[in-house]
Amino acid sequence: MSKKIIELLSKEAQKNSEDLLWVKVVGIGNAGVGKTCLVKSFCESKFSKNYVETIGVDYGFKLHNVDGKEVRLTFWDFGGNSVYADVRKELYHQTKICILVYDVTNTSSFQALDDWLKEFESYGGKKSFFCVVGNKLDLPNKKVNRTAAEEWAKRRNMKHFLASAATGDGVSAMFTQVLTDALKSST
Ligand code: GDP
Ligand code: MG
Repeated sequence: MSKKIIELLSKEAQKNSEDLLWVKVVGIGNAGVGKTCLVKSFCESKFSKNYVETIGVDYGFKLHNVDGKEVRLTFWDFGGNSVYADVRKELYHQTKICILVYDVTNTSSFQALDDWLKEFESYGGKKSFFCVVGNKLDLPNKKVNRTAAEEWAKRRNMKHFLASAATGDGVSAMFTQVLTDALKSST
């Protein structure tokens, strides 16, 4: 191949990679609230009943079209167990979107959101776009008051969503809305 062609090709490759929009999405919240399942549901339309605690980091990837733009989404779930606090702090950097997840049948998972937010913000995540998701909407024994959760989110300028990773209800709508809002806010 001539030098000229190689030059042209490498210029083209560089231009393409500049056009690519990578968005890092991080899910935080107590262990067991359904962070991994929400991402699996969105990325792979899959749900698993067998709980495998995230050890360290769970990762997901999806190409998604937001307002006509192709976006490369990377999802990170750093495991809710405080044993992994160091891993989380290391990886909070450059998060574009932070999704705070609680379980609608578990009050303490909702109360823990303040601490999660504090930890996240104190380790480099301040500039992220935030939202709140109450997961496991399919379960009958709901404990977290919907209005209280909506107000908690509103006071912090975040949108509040309800979803079920088990049935897929609200999952795609939530991710799509959050991505659209987040990309708008950053342009
Ligand atoms: P994580 O620790 O926050 O990542 O939680 P996981 O995504 O691993 O889910 C924890 C457990 O909750 C698993 O046993 C899942 O099967 C279950 N789970 C997750 N999402 C839902 C949901 O929407 N509905 C129900 N009923 N169970 C769920
Ligand atoms: Mg997980």
